[in-house]
Amino acid sequence: MTTIVRLDNVHKQFGSNQVLKGVSFEVKKGEVVAIIGQSGSGKSTALRCIDYLEKIDDGQITVCEHNLAGSAPDLKALRRDVGIVFQSYNLFPHLTVEKNIKLALKHVRKLGHKQAAQIAQEVLAQVGLSEKADSYPEQLSGGQQQRVAIARSLAMAPRVMLFDEVTSALDPKLTGEVLKVIEGLAAGGMTMILVTHEMGFARKVADKIIYMRDGLVWETGGPEILDHPETQELQEFVGIGL
Ligand code: ADP
Ligand code: MG
Repeated sequence: MTTIVRLDNVHKQFGSNQVLKGVSFEVKKGEVVAIIGQSGSGKSTALRCIDYLEKIDDGQITVCEHNLAGSAPDLKALRRDVGIVFQSYNLFPHLTVEKNIKLALKHVRKLGHKQAAQIAQEVLAQVGLSEKADSYPEQLSGGQQQRVAIARSLAMAPRVMLFDEVTSALDPKLTGEVLKVIEGLAAGGMTMILVTHEMGFARKVADKIIYMRDGLVWETGGPEILDHPETQELQEFVGIGL
């Protein structure tokens, strides 16, 4: 199976704060990997390094065929291959849902009006929001806005999607509708890395779980490690034996 993302002994520090202390993992094509762990363990930093939002200090990262450790990568090409969705949706408030999606299609993928409109329709259908194309972000619920943000990412036809706690600002009902969209992407074979605190969801969709602690991959394995952790730290994190 093709490797899409590979981290080898990745180090990253901010000032004197060592945040990633030798992180290694691999994501193969079509795999869904969930990263879990306490706040401050380096999960977001690891994701940001994969999209070159942060440059690593040491180690290796390859994403698709881009090498992110040496000289500056082709950022345009990298960002087309990697879709990233954050907790905040960052939609343009003055643009309709459809225009929010078409913006990057026109400017980055250089598509014409008609083709961009067609792709916008397709991705909106994929997240179940076809009827909201002409709405403005403020007219949508938080869950719907997050689904638009996911659709906007999908429109770029990324080869891997990164999700950083995309439901943590949402109440449980809206969380469910966003997780359903991500589940649909998983079923469709999308390669994904999800940072999440939704353990039930991680157990259900992930092929692989990565438990990060203190800037390291502390424990990793299939979803069964959530029920039978080897390390005491993961046992405590998932609340077994407390
Ligand atoms: P997590 O996502 O697991 O909560 P983060 O990767 O966001 O953890 O943060 C890990 C550590 O790195 C924290 O101590 C945080 O304060 C620090 N950190 C993250 N980003 C920056 C930054 N841009 N500048 C300085 N420190 C940062
Ligand atoms: Mg984080």
